[in-house]
Amino acid sequence: MNNPSVHETKVLEFWDELDLVTKVMEKNRGKKKFSFFDGPVTANNALGVHHAWGRTYKDVVQRYKALKGYDQRLQNGFDCQGLWVEVEVEKSLHLDSKQEILDFGLDRFSVACKDRVGTYSQVQTEQSRRLGQMMDWKNSYYTHTDQNIEHIWHFLKECHKNGWLYRGHHPMPWCWRCGTSLSSHEQVDSYREMTHTALYAKFPFKDGSLLVWTTTPWTLPANVAVAVNPEFEYAAFELNGEVLYAGSWLRNTLLKKYNVQDIFTGEKLVGEGYSYPFENDHQFPRILVAWDKVNMEEGTGLVHMATGCGLEDYQRGKELDLTVLHALDESGHYVEGYHEFSGKFYAEVNLMVAQFLSRNDLLFKEESYNHRYPVCWRCKEELVYRLVDEWFISSEEVRPLLLEVSESVVWDPPYLKKQFQNWLENMGDWCVSRKRFWGLPLPFYPCDCGHLTVLGSRADLSSLPQELHRPWIDEVEVNCEKCGQPVKRVLDVGDCWLDAGVMSFSTLNYLGSYEYWQEWYPADFVCEMREQTRLWFYSMMYMGVTLTGSPPFKYVYSYEKVDDKDGNPLHKSSKNVIWLDEVLKDTGADVLRALYLSQNRKRNMRFDLKRADFHVKTLKQFYNYVKFLVTYADLDAFQFDAEFRVRDNLLDKWMNARLQQFVEMADQLYSSYQFVELITEFTEFVEELSNWYVRRSRRKFWVEDMSHEKGSAMNTLFFVLKTLAVVVAPMFPFLSEVVYQKLKKYAHGEVSVHLEKFSEHLPITDSKLLTLMCKTREFTSLGLQLRQSMHKKVKYPLKECLLFVSEPGLYEFTGLLKEELNVERVRFLDSLDWYVKIELKPNYRLLGAKLGSRTKLLKRTLQSLSQSEMKDYALRCKELSLDLNGELLDVNSENFTTVLHWRAGYRGITSPFGSLLLSEAESPDLVYEGKYRVFLRYVQLERKRLNLQISELVEMRFNTTDKSLEDFLWRKESRLRSEARLSGIRRLEVNTGDVVLDTLNLEFSLLN
Ligand SMILES: [Zn+2]
Ligand SMILES: [Zn+2]
Repeated sequence: MNNPSVHETKVLEFWDELDLVTKVMEKNRGKKKFSFFDGPVTANNALGVHHAWGRTYKDVVQRYKALKGYDQRLQNGFDCQGLWVEVEVEKSLHLDSKQEILDFGLDRFSVACKDRVGTYSQVQTEQSRRLGQMMDWKNSYYTHTDQNIEHIWHFLKECHKNGWLYRGHHPMPWCWRCGTSLSSHEQVDSYREMTHTALYAKFPFKDGSLLVWTTTPWTLPANVAVAVNPEFEYAAFELNGEVLYAGSWLRNTLLKKYNVQDIFTGEKLVGEGYSYPFENDHQFPRILVAWDKVNMEEGTGLVHMATGCGLEDYQRGKELDLTVLHALDESGHYVEGYHEFSGKFYAEVNLMVAQFLSRNDLLFKEESYNHRYPVCWRCKEELVYRLVDEWFISSEEVRPLLLEVSESVVWDPPYLKKQFQNWLENMGDWCVSRKRFWGLPLPFYPCDCGHLTVLGSRADLSSLPQELHRPWIDEVEVNCEKCGQPVKRVLDVGDCWLDAGVMSFSTLNYLGSYEYWQEWYPADFVCEMREQTRLWFYSMMYMGVTLTGSPPFKYVYSYEKVDDKDGNPLHKSSKNVIWLDEVLKDTGADVLRALYLSQNRKRNMRFDLKRADFHVKTLKQFYNYVKFLVTYADLDAFQFDAEFRVRDNLLDKWMNARLQQFVEMADQLYSSYQFVELITEFTEFVEELSNWYVRRSRRKFWVEDMSHEKGSAMNTLFFVLKTLAVVVAPMFPFLSEVVYQKLKKYAHGEVSVHLEKFSEHLPITDSKLLTLMCKTREFTSLGLQLRQSMHKKVKYPLKECLLFVSEPGLYEFTGLLKEELNVERVRFLDSLDWYVKIELKPNYRLLGAKLGSRTKLLKRTLQSLSQSEMKDYALRCKELSLDLNGELLDVNSENFTTVLHWRAGYRGITSPFGSLLLSEAESPDLVYEGKYRVFLRYVQLERKRLNLQISELVEMRFNTTDKSLEDFLWRKESRLRSEARLSGIRRLEVNTGDVVLDTLNLEFSLLN
C-alpha cells in the first residue's frame, strides 16, 4: 500500500491475463444496453493530468454500468487528422512552412503524420490503462480510417442534396503560419490582449484631408472607400491654413486646437471623391460611402474600408458594389500589384505604411492601441483577415431543427443548455474546408461546365488510390455527373470537427449495418469538457440532426479545466504541464481518481497533490481493516456464513443496516453521476466503520475461540468489507481488486471484483436502529466532552451516567454507552428536577438601559419564577416571557444567561436531543478494571516489540505491590489469558520483570 504503483501494476497484469474487458462484455452481452460515445482524444502527444479528469468520469460510469449488468461497447476514440497533428509533425521534421512541406514531399509528410498518430495512440492507450480505464482497447476507433472518411462523405453529399453546400469567396480569419483559415467555432476564446499601433492618416480631400483612423495600418494600401455615418455631425477643422475633415465631436478632444470652419451632416459627404495616396495597380476613383456601423466611440467618424481584409467591410462593400481588393497571400505577404508593398510581410507593411504616410506629410498621429485580438488557437500567432475561397455548409435550414432537438437533451450542469442554444442561434455557416494536407479529403469535384460532383462513398471513385489521403487521392479523377468530362478534386481537406462529429455514425457502421447502428444510437451518456459545446457536441449534433433528425446523445455531462495549484492554466510552453505518467507513478491511479471525483466540476480544478493526502488516509484505513480481518480469519480458518451475521448483537445489526444504507445511497449517486457526494459518503462510511464499529468490536476478535459474539462480528466485518469492495470498485478499481482477492478465499466469489454484481440493496428494515445509533454516538460525544470539562480522563471509571431523554429506544444502547464513557451503570431519568437548578442571569448592561427604574421589578419577577417554568425554557426550548406590570419581556440568550447548577457530586451537559450527567465519584471495582485495561495495553505493546505473531501463545510473569490489583487479575485470569493470548500466568518472586509500570506498581515479562 505504501507504493501504490507496485500493487496497481500487478493488478493490471492480473486483468490482462484474465482478459477482463472481454469477460465483462461477454457477461452482459444481450442484456439491457448502455450506450456511451467517447469524444476522441487527439493522438498527438502523451497525456497530461488534464486529460485524466474526464477519463476518470467515463471509466467510473462504465464500470458502474458493467456491475449493474448493462451491455456496453466500451469503445475509446482517437482523433487522428488535422492541424494539431500537422503542427507537431512539422516541428519534429523541422519544417516551417507549407512550401517546405511540399518540398519535403507530401507523401512522406502524410506517412509521418500517420506514424505519429500510430505511435501516440499506443502511448495514450497504455497511459489510460494505467489510469484504470476499462475499455475495449483492441477496438478503439481512429478518425483517419476509410470507414470514418466515407461516413463524412455521405454526410457532405446529403448536405449537397439539401442545397446547403456552397463555395464562399470572402475574407476569413487566417493564420499565416499554419496557412489556413479558421472557422468561428475554432476561434471562440482564442483572443489575447494586445497592443497595436493605430494611425490617423490624411487622405487628400477638397481643400484639405479626410482624417482616417485605422488599427491595422497594413490594410491601408488595400483601401477602396471611406465610410461615414450619414446621421452624425461632421466638421471642417482649420489650423495654420491646414484643413481636416472629421467628426465634429473631436473639437473637444483630438482637434481642440483647431478652429471649426464649417459643420454639416455626414449625409453631405456621401458620394464625394477623395484621393487615394498610394501608387499601385489599383487606381480607380475612391468615394465616401454611408455606413451606419460607424460610431463615435473610437476613431474619427471616417472609417477606412478594405473589402478584402475584413468580413464586415466585405459585406458592406458587397451591398454597395465596391471593388474587392485581394491583399495577402497564404503566408501573409502582399500580393503583386502593390509596388513597394508587394512581397512584404503584413507586419512589415504596418511599419512601411507609417513611414510612407510620414514621408508624404499624410500622417497626422500615431498611438498605441490596446485591444483583444484573435490569435490562432493552435500556434497562437496573430490572425489576419484574408480573402479566400472556402467551402461552407449553410446553417439556415438546420438551425431551427438543432434548437428544437437540443431541448430534449439533458445537460449537466443545466446551464449548458442555454450556452449551447446561444451558440446555435449565433453560429455562422460551417466552414468545412482547410487549405492543409493531412486531413479528410473533401470529395468535391467542380467541373468547368459549372456542375459540382460530390462523392458519397469510395465506390464513386473511378479507381481506388493507395490511400484516401493527400497526395494519393488527388491523382484520381472522376467523371462529371453532368457532362462526363474528367474532373479533379479540390485540394482542400476537411475541418477536423467533421472527423470527430461523424463518430456516432461511422463507429456504428451506419452505412454498412443500419440495424446495429440503431441498437446503439443515440448515446445514453457523453462526457467532455465544457468547451466542447461549440466543438464536438456541436458537430455531432449538427451531423446527427442532418442525417436523422434526432440527437446523437441523451445526456451531456461536462466539467471545466485543470489549472496548476496556483490557478494558472497548464501549458507545455510555460513549463507547468503535469504529465500523467509521473503522477501515476508517485501517487497511483486510485488516489488520482479520488482527487478528480471530489472536485466540483463547475469550477476549474487547481491540481494539487497535497489534497490527495486526505483520500490516501481513507483508502489506507479501508485496506488496513481488510488486513485486520485477514489476520484473524486465517487464525480461525474462517469461512463466511451468511446466516451467522445479523443475529442479535446490536453493533453488528447496526453495521449491517448502515451498510445497506450506504449501498442504497451509492447506487443513487452513481446513477445520477453525483460523484462529489458519493466520495463524501464513502469517506464518512469508512470513518464510522473505523471509529465506531471496528473500534467497538476489536476486543471480540482477540478472544481465542470462535465465540458466538466473535463469529457474528467476523461475519459482519467480512460482509461489510467485501460489499464495500464491490460498491467502490468503479471509483477505485485497483484497491478494490486487491481487497476482493484477499477476501475471496473466505467465501464464494467471482474471478475479479469487476465481474461482480453491484450489491442489490435490500429495503432498509432498520432505519430506527440507524437513528438510535446516531443518537448514541451523539450522547457519547457529549459525555466525552463533559469528561474533558471535568478533567476526568476516560481511563478512570466513573460510577454512573444519567440520561434525560425522550427517546425510550435508547435503553438497548446502554451497554455501548457504559463502555464508551467508562461508567459502571447508565440510568434513565424521568425528570431532571432533582439534579439541576436553573438560574437566569439578566444581562443588565442591555436591560438596564431599556428598563430603567423597572429593573427592581425584574428582580422580583425573576424570584417568583418557578423552577419548572425555567426548566421548560432552558431544557425544553419553550418560550418564556416575563410580565413586568403588564409589559412582556421575552427571555432569550441575548438578554439572559442561563446557568445550570448541578446537584453536588454530578456534572451535566444539555443539548437539543437530551441531557447527560456524570457522577463525579469513581467506582472502586471499575478503578481496577481501568488499571486492567492499561496493563493489557502494555502487554500488547510488549508482544509487538517481541514480534510475536497473533497465533503465538506465551507465558506471562508479573509482580505487583498492589494486593487489590493482584486479586483482581487472578479473578480475571481466563479473560486475561484470552485477551493477551497467554499460555500461562505466574507471579514473579523477585522484581525482575522486563516491563516496569510505575503508575500501576506492577512489572511483568513475556516468555515464549
Ligand atoms: Zn496557426
Ligand atoms: Zn461537367
